[in-house]
Amino acid sequence: MNFLEECLCFIFPKACGICEKIEKNYLCLKCLKNIENSNLFCNKIDNCKKDKTKYFDYHAYLFLYKGIIREKIIQYKFENKPYLSNMFCEFFIKNKKICGFLKKYDIIISVPMTKVKIAKRGYNQTELIAKLIAKNIKNIQYKKDILIKIKDNKIQSTLNKKQRIENVKNAYKLKNAQIIKQKNILILDDIYTTGATVNECAKMLKQQKCNVSILTIAKDI
Ligand SMILES: [Zn+2]
Repeated sequence: MNFLEECLCFIFPKACGICEKIEKNYLCLKCLKNIENSNLFCNKIDNCKKDKTKYFDYHAYLFLYKGIIREKIIQYKFENKPYLSNMFCEFFIKNKKICGFLKKYDIIISVPMTKVKIAKRGYNQTELIAKLIAKNIKNIQYKKDILIKIKDNKIQSTLNKKQRIENVKNAYKLKNAQIIKQKNILILDDIYTTGATVNECAKMLKQQKCNVSILTIAKDI
């Protein structure tokens, strides 16, 4: 821990993101075990290679989008709690299966938001987690500005599957394409519902002959 981190720890002591008890980590062992033993825990890596409508190979996720996980994601996104990124990162890096999966990738990127939206929320929730994952997993690097969002479209959660696909069409633009050429890339998003957003992002990366997979905290079934 460097000096700045020590100061920050003194002002904002680390606490478990679930039970909020002061902890040496952002997730206490008890809460981790409780959630892993609950029916929210999936820990799945879906092989999507045979699905010709998808531009990515695998989708890995830890939880169902329900109960306490849904509550925490909503708090993280809409109640100005950027520090919960640490807890979500711990869920990923404390999971052996996910860690093994992460090690196969060179680059992790996050689903981009428009500048206006980032300014409104104060942070891009998926970027914070992607950066923390790259900090903790040796061979995977976080890259910023690979994809940028160029269309301020409607919020996906208000639309049906067909509308979602239409809504994200041409919403992203590839930048710094040379960095990602033929690399193994992981796209991080918070929730997977129909997969329309991440699929549109993956489609852009495929233009550079990348192997693309998806990592999300939860899947909404
Ligand atoms: Zn706890």
